[in-house]
Amino acid sequence: AEAQLRQAQKMEAVGQLTGGLAHDFNNLLTAISGSLELLDQRVRQGRLGALDRYMSAARGAVDRAASLTHRLLAFSRQQTLDPRPTDVGRLVRDMEDLVRRTAGPAVALVVDTPPDLWTTLIDPNQLESALLNLCINARDAMPQGGHITIEASNREIDEETAHVQDIPAGQFVLLSVSDTGVGMPPDVIARAFDPFFTTKPIGQGTGLGLSMIYGFVRQSGGQVRIRSEVGHGTTVSLYLPRHDGEERAAEMLAIAPAAPRA
Ligand code: ADP
Repeated sequence: AEAQLRQAQKMEAVGQLTGGLAHDFNNLLTAISGSLELLDQRVRQGRLGALDRYMSAARGAVDRAASLTHRLLAFSRQQTLDPRPTDVGRLVRDMEDLVRRTAGPAVALVVDTPPDLWTTLIDPNQLESALLNLCINARDAMPQGGHITIEASNREIDEETAHVQDIPAGQFVLLSVSDTGVGMPPDVIARAFDPFFTTKPIGQGTGLGLSMIYGFVRQSGGQVRIRSEVGHGTTVSLYLPRHDGEERAAEMLAIAPAAPRA
């Protein structure tokens, strides 16, 4: 519970950091756009004196924006993956209390994880963040309350299904978070994975949740799918690659010190 709380606090700090950056960035764009507009006015009125004041204001804002993006890039590079054999069912059950508290009393949480789930090869810290993020999105989609369902199941994707549904072929644990919320219209679904895309008020959404989840799952060899119906709800599904236990065991044998000769 202690570790989960720390993780939640870390998430909050990350959210504040990125939210703050997005906000600063917006302010800089507003400053640039304002300077350009004034420049434009002056030029059209033929008042060409002292234009460099607006030019240097715009240039200063561009420089600050560039330094912000460098910081953001440096930050995202820190998020290196540490894939490990991970029991998704256990991870979900360990997160249940935190999710329930985060979702609030108006939301009923249902968790359905079968006991025979395959082990996945995934960064467990990133997966915890992803799950919490998906549940926060689900909560935000249900201001009057509703249901969140977290489900996991084993999925074997054959070549044909892979081709038709544009997912990789192979064995996956499918982890999905469903809500009974407002749903997403097609134009929101189309942009949902874009960094900084948000429909939430400034200060509430960073627009980074789904883009970070997408990046991490794709980098891990999986896929993310959104199904949504406006007015009914949304399901976000993560295809998490199965850990190939035998391959891992063979690797371990290969690096094990040779047995002493008789
Ligand atoms: P944020 O939550 O900070 O806005 P995300 O990248 O997590 O950033 O989500 C982007 C947008 O996708 C949200 O602003 C919202 O419009 C939409 N969205 C995400 N999850 C859901 C959901 N479960 N129900 C409805 N809309 C959603």
